[in-house]
Amino acid sequence: MSSVRVRFAPSPTGPLHMGGVRTALYNYLFAKKHNGTFLIRIEDTDQTRFVAGAQDYIMDALKWCGIMPTEGPGLGGEFGPYVQSERKEMYKPFAEQLIAEDKAYYAFDSAEDLDRMRDQAKAMGMPNWQYNSVTRSSMRNSLTLPQSEVEQLLAKGEPFVIRMKMPRNRDVRFHDLIRGWVVVNTNNLDDKVLFKSDGMPTYHLANIVDDHTMAISHVIRGEEWLPSAPLHILLYEAFGWDCPEFAHLPLLLRPDGNGKLSKRDGDRLGFPVFPTNWTTIEGELYSGYREKGYVPGAFINMLALLGWNPGTTQEIFTLEELVEAFSLERVSKAGAKFDPEKTKWFQQQYLRSLPNSELAQQLREITELKQSDLELERICSLMKERATFAQDILTDGAYLFERPTSFDADTIRKKWKSETTGYINEWKALIVELSDFTSTNIEQTFKSFLSEKQLGIGAVLLPYRLVLTGVGAGPGMFEISEFLGKEEVLARIDLGLAAVEQILHEA
Ligand code: GLU
Repeated sequence: MSSVRVRFAPSPTGPLHMGGVRTALYNYLFAKKHNGTFLIRIEDTDQTRFVAGAQDYIMDALKWCGIMPTEGPGLGGEFGPYVQSERKEMYKPFAEQLIAEDKAYYAFDSAEDLDRMRDQAKAMGMPNWQYNSVTRSSMRNSLTLPQSEVEQLLAKGEPFVIRMKMPRNRDVRFHDLIRGWVVVNTNNLDDKVLFKSDGMPTYHLANIVDDHTMAISHVIRGEEWLPSAPLHILLYEAFGWDCPEFAHLPLLLRPDGNGKLSKRDGDRLGFPVFPTNWTTIEGELYSGYREKGYVPGAFINMLALLGWNPGTTQEIFTLEELVEAFSLERVSKAGAKFDPEKTKWFQQQYLRSLPNSELAQQLREITELKQSDLELERICSLMKERATFAQDILTDGAYLFERPTSFDADTIRKKWKSETTGYINEWKALIVELSDFTSTNIEQTFKSFLSEKQLGIGAVLLPYRLVLTGVGAGPGMFEISEFLGKEEVLARIDLGLAAVEQILHEA
């Protein structure tokens, strides 16, 4: 059996949308699963849509996601170059071969000629005029002009394009690994341009020539390319080449299921649609998952399940486990609704499973911290169950890094009773006596204090939290106390009580 070779073939027309990352991911998983090769090819034949920086962005994003191809620009490989504009010279002979075999033809119609035909057709009630097997007979091309004139025009350097000579009334059938059999009649297809007047091939010609010459075995790409597949099949046939297998992936839909997730949706609906930040030359910023604080594993895990399911209830997968479980048969035909809340849930699960030492390192990358590694690890262990992003540990757990400078006045006013300050002072006196300042010991002492005073836990624990941390919720108070240490706890009780006093006075 010939080996599996798949490609991700983005056009550098902008940053990589997360739908594109998912296409790359499925290609990567499929290749790894079959001990094959995953390569990247940059399809930049449309020079008018070229965006500077997009190629670097794409490579950088794939790297962050951990799904790097092994062949591609800057990566080496035996089938290069991997950027179509660098392969420019290769394509024309293929287009000429098709002309020689009467499967394609030169067309000399100017943009104005084509506009005129469209307008005329519209005026006659046909809004969708196409250059096709019927209309080509009334256009200026090598099928209608005498050969001598064609030769003259070519010799003169008259601008031309090369068009596919679409056969009439033929059913093109092909099998898609996700969609099953697809049948399209050629009467519904136009004579697509294969080679342009600027000397570049179009996407269609370059894509087929490259997939063939790069020995691609499976074409795994987005559903938006399904309408082009019949033309591609006909091109393989015209060249007498074997067709790769096709798999067209379902669309990514907006959270409400209403239409395709577009690059504008993300920031508008409050979530990124790009793997990493992208700033346009006009200075407009599109946010990315990396900069929002997502770990790549969570992002990739979430994407893997957008359109594919493992057939079990397992949701958390490492990349290796995804490779193991992945199959194209389990990719659905239906569009996959993106769920921003579920995406956060994945991030939460990943954050929780990170070793404290790694999380501590992430905190240091975000900001400069004076705490020792050990202290940071203890903070992480206290906070990580309540955090979604590493950043949350810094903000929600700020009191573990510094003494609180602000206190939740609303909760204090609501919960502080006339006897509360007295209880806290009594509890403080017990702390002073405590020699073994561990959470278990603190908890035991606290509980016997409560039962002696016949108090409910809320009467003292929440006030104690408020004076120590300034806020009304957080990890266990006894663990926090142990972490802060006796001296710090005592100092914070004094400072906290003074702050409470002031708040109650202001009220
Ligand atoms: N260059 C196309 C794109 O930008 C690739 C389509 C394909 O994979 O054939 O999506």
